[in-house]
Amino acid sequence: IFEKLLEPIQIGPMKLRNRIVMPSMVTNFAAADGAVTERFKAYHQTRAKGGVGLIIVEASYVHPTGKGFKNQLGIYKDELVPGLRKLTEAVHFYGAKIAVQLYHAGRQTTSKVTGMNVVAPSPIPCPVKQEMPEELSKEEIKELIEAFGQAARRAKEAGFDAVEIHGAHGYLLNQFLSPYSNKRTDEYGGNLENRLRFPIEVIKKVREEVGEDFPIIYRMSAEEYVAGGITLEESKVIAKKLVEVGIDAIHISGGVYESSAMIIQPAAIPQGCFIENAAAIKKAINGEVPVIVVGRIKDPVMAEEIIREGKADLVAMGRALLSDPELPRKVAEGRIQEIRKCIGCNQGCIDRLFQDIDITCLVNALTGHETEFDLETTAEKKKKVLVVGGGPAGLEAARVAALRGHKVVLYEQEEELGGQMRIAAIPPHKNEINDLLNYLINQVEKHGVVIERGKKAEIELIKEIKPDAVIVATGSEPVIPQIPGVERENVVTAHEVLNGSANVGQKVVVIGGGLVGCETAEYLADRGKQVIVVEMLDDIAMDIGLLTKALLLKRLVEKKIKILTKSKVKEILADGVIIEKENGMEQITGIDTVVVAVGSKPKNDLLKLLESEGIPVYPIGDCVKPRKIIEAIHEGFRIAYNL
Ligand code: SF4
Repeated sequence: IFEKLLEPIQIGPMKLRNRIVMPSMVTNFAAADGAVTERFKAYHQTRAKGGVGLIIVEASYVHPTGKGFKNQLGIYKDELVPGLRKLTEAVHFYGAKIAVQLYHAGRQTTSKVTGMNVVAPSPIPCPVKQEMPEELSKEEIKELIEAFGQAARRAKEAGFDAVEIHGAHGYLLNQFLSPYSNKRTDEYGGNLENRLRFPIEVIKKVREEVGEDFPIIYRMSAEEYVAGGITLEESKVIAKKLVEVGIDAIHISGGVYESSAMIIQPAAIPQGCFIENAAAIKKAINGEVPVIVVGRIKDPVMAEEIIREGKADLVAMGRALLSDPELPRKVAEGRIQEIRKCIGCNQGCIDRLFQDIDITCLVNALTGHETEFDLETTAEKKKKVLVVGGGPAGLEAARVAALRGHKVVLYEQEEELGGQMRIAAIPPHKNEINDLLNYLINQVEKHGVVIERGKKAEIELIKEIKPDAVIVATGSEPVIPQIPGVERENVVTAHEVLNGSANVGQKVVVIGGGLVGCETAEYLADRGKQVIVVEMLDDIAMDIGLLTKALLLKRLVEKKIKILTKSKVKEILADGVIIEKENGMEQITGIDTVVVAVGSKPKNDLLKLLESEGIPVYPIGDCVKPRKIIEAIHEGFRIAYNL
């Protein structure tokens, strides 16, 4: 059923074994000077081994002023070529093709990252980076065109099969192209012909350096989603011009930093968000060159449909390959239910990137750590392992322990597996967490873990089983704050709201503005409730990534959820709450239900008992300290791997 997705295709002279593309995503795995590291190489080699057709290596800066991230790949000097060659050889070994993305950040960086002044077509700061750039002189423009050309030459010398010119996401080429960021009055600004001049001169220079028989892919944001920015209609004209100049493929994305939700696409953005734009561009260029489409495409069925319906020719699956590098092979072998799907959380990847640290993946602890672990070899000494608790940490530990050859038994006191994941999947835009839950259950069953549902692992039972190791993953329970009135009937926990066991009235106060409190508030607002969130700190949602947080806050405002920060509930009444605010006390009445969402505390009674009995015990996840799912999963992975 995946015959279109798996069909070979040609981009210029480059033949690909299938239509699955790994698009560029900055990893922060490169050295400080932009050189390839062993880690960088292993990460890409793993994706090549998984069967992807083409890897487009991350945005690589062609000039020192163009660096955008701390440990980003560089291609700005000849000394980097030997390392790049090792990378292309590693990827070619597994039959994939590899392109490098040539990039300059323009104003979407800071002098802290580059150590130099920020440059751009016009002296207008990026609304996100907020640093005033220097306007590029014509001489400097020539220097940058030359830098793109030299970078392309290095790419060819290093054995890359193609280059992709990054003309999207608000970076330098996009800045020149867009009236939103280009206010020049010389021949590089003004009408479309002038705004296209820099991108076209870059393409021509790259072509001059690489010759006719070397593919050039051009990536563009078909829409910028900002006032005064490029629209789809203009992009159709732009695409035609780019094809006339001689590009070999066009890669459709969207957004600039100001509209970064369209670049980072959290789970609130629909899957396949750029498919129709790609189809429009493909039509505009009469299919003269292949079109690649990106944008939260994680499902191979959707990928197949895109190609089958002629909306694009290749499908870029970025985060889908972070979460499962073997996706292409599993598709080819018909093992669809075994794919570990990306859940669109951004916690392991993009949130970390924008904190200037290396990426990984919430669902795949191996991502970025390919040199440290080898799941293809089993442990030297096989053990009898008991896992207590079937939440994210326990399931992942059971999966990995079984893969390492241990004999694993998992006890879950509830009838259903999943623990906190089942609750976490309920708020708006979180249902893809179920993909992770289903994957973990599928895998523990497949790898022969004995699962005892609805059974509590009492100490006597554990002594009877005589395990070599007990992994305790008993999770956490909600904290009930010591507030007068908390025992009233109108008080419920966020957990009870989300699992459907609480009766919630029309007017609701949520105590706690962390992620759980905010998500529960949104869940209730979606059901027509009037909600007030009360938070002690001076901001809400302090425990989530900045970009995801911005979108969440926007939705809370749209849904008319009232937020009180720097406020503390001092007493819960039968029909309201008394709140202490900066400027005194306030009583809110007419409230039907008070929801408590002030965090969780470890459930660790068993852990203490086992320790006192001297049984070898490995605590993981929330029973150690309540944290996010990513920490639970990664801890489960590491502990089980090292047993
Ligand atoms: Fe997808 Fe989340 Fe993994 Fe990023 S961290 S690849 S969004 S599952």
